[in-house]
Amino acid sequence: MSDQRVYNFAAGPSTLPLSVLERAGSEITNYRGSGMSVMEMSHRSNIFMGIFQETQDKLRRLMGVPEDYHILFLQTGASGQFSMIPLNLIGRTGRADYAVTGNFSSLAYKEAAKYGTISLACDTGDRNHCYIPRQEELKLDKDASYFYYCANNTIYGTEWDYVPATGEVPLVCDMSSDILSMPVDVSKFGIIYAGAQKNMAPAGLTVVIVKDGLAGHELPFTPLMMNYQTMIDKDSMYNTPPCWCIYMLGLVLDWVAENGGPEGMKKLRDLRSGMLYDTLENTRLFRLHADKGSRSGMNITFRTEDEALDAKFIKEAAQAGFVNLKGHRKTGGMRASIYNAMPVEGVEKLCEFIRAFDKAN
Ligand SMILES: *Cc1c(COP(=O)(O)O)cnc(C)c1O
Repeated sequence: MSDQRVYNFAAGPSTLPLSVLERAGSEITNYRGSGMSVMEMSHRSNIFMGIFQETQDKLRRLMGVPEDYHILFLQTGASGQFSMIPLNLIGRTGRADYAVTGNFSSLAYKEAAKYGTISLACDTGDRNHCYIPRQEELKLDKDASYFYYCANNTIYGTEWDYVPATGEVPLVCDMSSDILSMPVDVSKFGIIYAGAQKNMAPAGLTVVIVKDGLAGHELPFTPLMMNYQTMIDKDSMYNTPPCWCIYMLGLVLDWVAENGGPEGMKKLRDLRSGMLYDTLENTRLFRLHADKGSRSGMNITFRTEDEALDAKFIKEAAQAGFVNLKGHRKTGGMRASIYNAMPVEGVEKLCEFIRAFDKAN
């Protein structure tokens, strides 16, 4: 089975570690002698509660999540947080700061504007989101209820290389596409959240890490299911949680731990992205979308000067076993998403392919 696998550069859902898939496969009809699949278990059974608790504990250990933060396993995707964050947090002052550096932060900004007065801390749309502003360029409101940003811009291929300093204003961060790819000091944040389908698990799970005390001040019309406090009080089990995805997250976290934890992931990430940027910079044909100093370690966006040549590259790459390299329509060209589970060998081979294509065309 495994020798038919392709190198999958999809932006999300995206590649998972082969050993995780094989382990899930081996347990799929009979989870450790229970006689049933994790998909078939009551979420309130002892056996599933064990999986749930272990997964939460593993994430807390790996990310170094302090005891005064709650870890929630929710649904409605990362996009659900675009609403949930203002509904729960903006009530304090009625205002919030948003850094718009790409598509998802722009969507979050528009959603938040329904619930309060939102200031743009920055907007990199002037140059099609090819850069990240420096700290001194951010416009900060000291009365903001929170400051919102997206750590890695999945579509444009840019990534913040620093954590913004916002004084007393709590930081809220969308880490959907770079969570667990490097060590993070969780204590700097009010909320960290991530859709699981980029770097953690199959689609259907959203992980939210929220500092105690931020919840409980939701706007009065906040839907029950969008209230952090409901989910904190019920330990993410007000209703049926995404059980299978939580189990899969547990397996992925074991794999991360076996491979050196966030520090190990950071080494691999620097190796993969360094190789790819280096290769692309030394071609005649290819141009990178993101400015130096703002480039993502997870999503590499590039193109030739010719759309027909881009199409040829994508087609020939797919034939050679490198799939899902077509860029998002907002940037065009190509995008190689190289999340934690992408083998270094896949990137090495893609680099060889890029060099050969550059020569031949
Ligand atoms: C993919 C992605 C989203 C949207 O995730 P959904 O789970 O589909 O809602 C939001 N933010 C970032 C940074 C993403 O990469």
